[in-house]
Amino acid sequence: MDTLILGADEVEKAAQIIKNGGLVAMPTETVYGLAADALNGNAVANIFKAKGRPMDNPLIVHISDISQITGLVREFPENARRLAEKFWPGPLTIILPKSDNIPDEVSAGLDTVAVRFPSHPVAKALIGASCPLAAPSANLSGSPSPTTLRHVIDDMNGRIDAIIDGGDCAVGVESTVITLAEGKPRILRPGGITAEQIRSVIGETDIDAAVTAPLADGQKASSPGMKYKHYSPKAEVILLDGSDDDFAEYIRNEYDDKTAVLCYNEEKDVLPCMCIPVGAKNDDSAYAYHLFAALREADERKCSRVYAHCPKKEGIGLAVYNRIIRAAGFKVIKL
Ligand code: AMP
Ligand code: MG
Repeated sequence: MDTLILGADEVEKAAQIIKNGGLVAMPTETVYGLAADALNGNAVANIFKAKGRPMDNPLIVHISDISQITGLVREFPENARRLAEKFWPGPLTIILPKSDNIPDEVSAGLDTVAVRFPSHPVAKALIGASCPLAAPSANLSGSPSPTTLRHVIDDMNGRIDAIIDGGDCAVGVESTVITLAEGKPRILRPGGITAEQIRSVIGETDIDAAVTAPLADGQKASSPGMKYKHYSPKAEVILLDGSDDDFAEYIRNEYDDKTAVLCYNEEKDVLPCMCIPVGAKNDDSAYAYHLFAALREADERKCSRVYAHCPKKEGIGLAVYNRIIRAAGFKVIKL
């Protein structure tokens, strides 16, 4: 199939494709999403085919008006209302008991549905001109999420009906996913809204153990996406946990001409090997913004090994850690 590349002013055309049961990649403030009509099970099934996504990994439903939530969930409890008031539109996904309208393809057979209200003007306009949209990240399953138009073209050209060009994504990692469907609030995936921000609104909130550690053999994932290999470039990724001096010394001893380093801007001219900067030291938002593009760049430059700094496990650093530890298959070297 030919994939149309649409400008941000061609949302009406994209909405028509969605209403006809087609697939459109859209920019959001987190990463590009691959969207279909959330209430059309056949259209949603095609998302899984285009991505090669396992059918048991549920999708997030995106809305552009808080009133749309009533058709999607059975309950909208007080703590959900408070989070929505504070963080929507924005990079927060809330899991709630699902209404019977939600097709099994969206919820992957679970009794819950994940809902988010994105802030990107193009995403909001597309939903407004069509309907609530089921949308995972617009990458081939397993590879780093797309944060630019070119990433989406690289993975999805010929597999979907259209891509809307919305420039580069501002946050760079996916939304925070929190479940309010099982007693105490629990973050299943860290993202653009931090645990600290969430606790300041609804108080005590757990962080699922699978955010920072691999699932034990046979352990059931609260968020099915957690059990899959994720965000991986072809190159081997290794996290280095230690001081910046130890980091530099390790690289100097170990690098070869196929080694890349996801380095701080300050290190770009002092490390001896291929450097892919991910922002200034201590700027975890910049690390998040650059991470997926940097992993893709390592593959484009035919690297076989990528070393990266271990981010702080707090604030948006926790989201970076969660992605990069999976990209690394949990390989961390303590320096
Ligand atoms: P992506 O679609 O790539 O943004 O990933 C969405 C993430 O949300 C995946 O890790 C899913 O497993 C998770 N997710 C979506 N819906 C649910 C749900 N109802 N319950 C638990 N996790 C969910
Ligand atoms: Mg994804």
